[in-house]
Amino acid sequence: MSNETPTLTETHHFKAETRQLLNILIHSLYTERDIFLRELISNASDAISRLNFELLTNKDVLDPDIEPKISIKINKDQKTITITDTGIGMDQDDIMQNLGTIAHSGAREFLEAATKSGDSDLSNIIGQFGVGFYSAFMVSDEIEVISRSYDKADDPIHWISDGGETYTIEKGEKDNRGTDIVLHLKEDASEYLEDYRIRQIIKKHSDYIPYPIFLNENEEQINRQTAIWRQQPHLVKPEEYKDFYNQFTFDFNEPLGYLHLSIDAPIQMYGLLYIPSTAEPNLFSDRKDYGLKLYARKVMIQEFTKDLLPEFLRFIQGVVDSEDIPLNVSREAFQSTKAIAQIKKILSSKVLDYLENLKSNDSEKYGSFWKEFGFFIKEGLASTAEFDDQLLSLMKVKTTKNNSSWQSLDDYVQSMVEDQKKIYYIIAEDENSAINSPHLEIFKQQNVDVITFTDPIDPFVLMRVNKYKEFDLTNVTSKDLELPEKKSEEEPTNEEEEVNKDELNELLTFFKTTLNERIKEVRTTKKLVESPVRLVDSEGSPSPEIQKAYRYLQKEFDSPQRILEINPSHPIIKNLAGIKGINPVRELVIEQLYENALLAEGVQPNSADLVKRVNKIIEVALKK
Ligand code: ADP
Repeated sequence: MSNETPTLTETHHFKAETRQLLNILIHSLYTERDIFLRELISNASDAISRLNFELLTNKDVLDPDIEPKISIKINKDQKTITITDTGIGMDQDDIMQNLGTIAHSGAREFLEAATKSGDSDLSNIIGQFGVGFYSAFMVSDEIEVISRSYDKADDPIHWISDGGETYTIEKGEKDNRGTDIVLHLKEDASEYLEDYRIRQIIKKHSDYIPYPIFLNENEEQINRQTAIWRQQPHLVKPEEYKDFYNQFTFDFNEPLGYLHLSIDAPIQMYGLLYIPSTAEPNLFSDRKDYGLKLYARKVMIQEFTKDLLPEFLRFIQGVVDSEDIPLNVSREAFQSTKAIAQIKKILSSKVLDYLENLKSNDSEKYGSFWKEFGFFIKEGLASTAEFDDQLLSLMKVKTTKNNSSWQSLDDYVQSMVEDQKKIYYIIAEDENSAINSPHLEIFKQQNVDVITFTDPIDPFVLMRVNKYKEFDLTNVTSKDLELPEKKSEEEPTNEEEEVNKDELNELLTFFKTTLNERIKEVRTTKKLVESPVRLVDSEGSPSPEIQKAYRYLQKEFDSPQRILEINPSHPIIKNLAGIKGINPVRELVIEQLYENALLAEGVQPNSADLVKRVNKIIEVALKK
């Protein structure tokens, strides 16, 4: 039981620290003011929880049977909002102790940070701290607290302050246990007299407060009340998971998948994570940013927490809730706490396991996942080595042999031909130019399958990743292909001998003089079957992956001179070599062969020149 309740009004001074805090809250903060409601509701919720705890051992409390709830009443005429709870209440000592001094470490930390940072970014930091009750002075000229303790012997207490130097207390009028906080709103805070604003703030910050919150006389409950992620996964119905997802993301489709975690070690945490139905357009449009919603002890700490998953998993939406999150540290310190690092580790591995399972057990769903989110997996491969094994296993590819469906690298490895020791791939603009690339002719001939990489991000992946399990990932344009020997082949083929060595050498020289600076060198190759020529990179020039990446980034970049390889057994080459003396068409054909080789690499030629040249060639051909 407290001191004798004053019959007359008593005036008390706030402690210096409190005055300092109030001064900042009242004079320096104009944004993030919404959080005052979160703070008051959180206090109300705590007060009810404490009463519930008291009730475990003590039935002799005031109003033991009233419903635990929080009510908010708006009075537009008087410009007040009243937040009422049926919690434990405060007696005179409590009120003087709790609302006259700063015991709360959040407020202290805030003060420290505020004095260090200068006024400019205060509004950024306030959301991070539980500044508690005092934050209500951001929106109020005056606050009244009328509280009645659970202890039947205590009188109700009425506390009033304008947030200046002093507060007053007197005996109050209140029939039931609990606390009313009456905010007399500032002139510029009248937005909070609108129902929709209050509703909006509660939805945003306090939706999962474990007691019902009612707004105004019609006693309509606003918050969802139960934190579905805190329930045992086997007790939550699939519709509830879906409803929660819909509310949370504003995406009214079925989520592609979800995972519900309840973990005790090494850290206590709950998590409810969703893979959205599509990567676009809902992913970033309705929620302002990406990141998980983080709760600690049922209070929302941060709406878009980016430190809980690696960046490439940013398409994951959901909630994490942990008792072990330190509440009162700055944003920078928060990121590097042990708790956050532990949660990140757990979540990353759970998400990747989940996807691996989906891949193994529901290939259709995984197919949709890959179609929507494959990009993110590739981004993970391009950006970090940390998850290579898992991500490569999740990767799906198309190949020249199986162009219509996705397969995994394991599928590819399983269907490798005898003696094949490498995984071969081609980088191209699109499937069609990949399949028709002259570089693949030798592979077709040897019956070796080739992965077709056509995404802009693929070169970035391949710049970093060059092995899967024990197999090198090898570009088809690479010099050391080490293709498996084809059993039936009789070496050497005698076709080549049909071309006269001297004629061939003469032709090579003619190619070089005609194309001059445009190519580095011209030489023969055995790796072509159907095409007369192809272009390959010369030693020392940047890898095709890097060239592609540069082009994609539109960096200032001169394509290095390339080598033109010609297929001596091709009829065109044979005929060209056979031409004696001056021939007007030979030069044109060489020009055209070069352009064809460029076309096969996805480089668009000048179409006017091309048409002229082809017309001339046709003209000569028809004359004969
Ligand atoms: P915090 O809640 O973070 O401790 P506050 O400044 O918000 O800091 O509140 C200080 C204290 O005042 C609380 O710890 C609590 O003991 C008391 N208090 C505030 N609001 C209520 C309430 N509605 N019912 C009972 N006690 C309250």
